[in-house]
Amino acid sequence: MSSFSEDSLTDMLPLYYKRLFPFEPYFRWLNYGNEKGYFVRREFSFTLVNDIYIRFKSFNDLDELEKDIYKERPVKIDIGAVYNLSPREKNHPNFSPSEKELVFDIDMTDYDDIRTCCSGADICDKCWKFMVVACKVLDAALREDFGFEHLLWVFSGRRGIHCWVCDAVARSLPDKARGAVAEYLQVVTGGVNMTKKVNIFGDQVHHSIQRAINITKKYFVNMCIEEQDVLGTSKGVTQFLGAVADDHLRDELQKELMKHTTSLDRWNAFLAHVTGLKEKGMLKKRNQNLVDEIMLQYTYPRLDINVSKGLNHLLKSPFCVHPKTGKICVPFNPKLVEKFSPLTVPVLSQLIEEINEHDSKNDDVKSVKDYKKTSIYKSVVIFETFVRGLEETFKKRPVSNSMEF
Ligand SMILES: [Zn+2]
Repeated sequence: MSSFSEDSLTDMLPLYYKRLFPFEPYFRWLNYGNEKGYFVRREFSFTLVNDIYIRFKSFNDLDELEKDIYKERPVKIDIGAVYNLSPREKNHPNFSPSEKELVFDIDMTDYDDIRTCCSGADICDKCWKFMVVACKVLDAALREDFGFEHLLWVFSGRRGIHCWVCDAVARSLPDKARGAVAEYLQVVTGGVNMTKKVNIFGDQVHHSIQRAINITKKYFVNMCIEEQDVLGTSKGVTQFLGAVADDHLRDELQKELMKHTTSLDRWNAFLAHVTGLKEKGMLKKRNQNLVDEIMLQYTYPRLDINVSKGLNHLLKSPFCVHPKTGKICVPFNPKLVEKFSPLTVPVLSQLIEEINEHDSKNDDVKSVKDYKKTSIYKSVVIFETFVRGLEETFKKRPVSNSMEF
């Protein structure tokens, strides 16, 4: 494993952009089949060394984009909205954002009150499971409840994930509709002692919530009770029981749980007590779904919905290099999210070593593209597969539509 230092970033970035950044599929993605002159009206923003931040950049074509990135060597690229006019005309009185992918941002920070394995910027395969559950729940909701198909999932470079919903319908949603989608998906707002508690009323649980319960059930005991040890301390027990609104039941449960010492034994005592009351018909109506509510409380995706709501909100581009970790913001396949680990994501310094190693051992130095010599190859293939799927929709587009303007 190669080490990455922040100071070496500026030395390595020119090589990364020249030899590894997948400009061709990247342009095909953001060009959207050249729909309505999309690409030229797109805002890009660059963060240069010394935190120089430039907004409202735009490019006429792939060539211009490439040349500017080679020249500026941005340490970060953000993608903004597609405006009604070219971002070069940002001072025009009618200048306003018209379209953008619907985006979601999930960050481990919002799980800091439940995860016990790491804190701050740290991350490991145990707490990453919160991201796995978040990805599965959100991916299913976006596809099944909203009918979206073209979802680009990207590792955010450190300890979170982004989702870009790229369907034409999603891109044309106005702010209000984005807010409505985001709020529909926001069942939990960060923290176990949060303001909005999960409440599931009655026997008919909403299908979207039921689907989330089914997903979380597969992970909850192993991930929260055992690995995160959420009931391992009395503080953890108090936090856990904070989700029980009924004072009497909470006191009862407190006594039951504290008869045991391990997190798993306490969880089993909780289940036994609640199930026992239910069987005797002594569990109040509002507590009927308590077990499911608590599981959701701990694992339902915690969204930063302000990112989703605003049409003009910028989001870090896929394939950026995270300046602190050197990790590449690689796309991943949501169907295989369980196999994705933030600990094995390609690091810039490692990629450069891989190119050098390949070139020293092979005669095909010139004929093989550099990215194919490295571990970024897999991520580029995932990205290209996504772009090809998107391009299928342009082919299906009726002729009258594509000639509209
Ligand atoms: Zn961890």
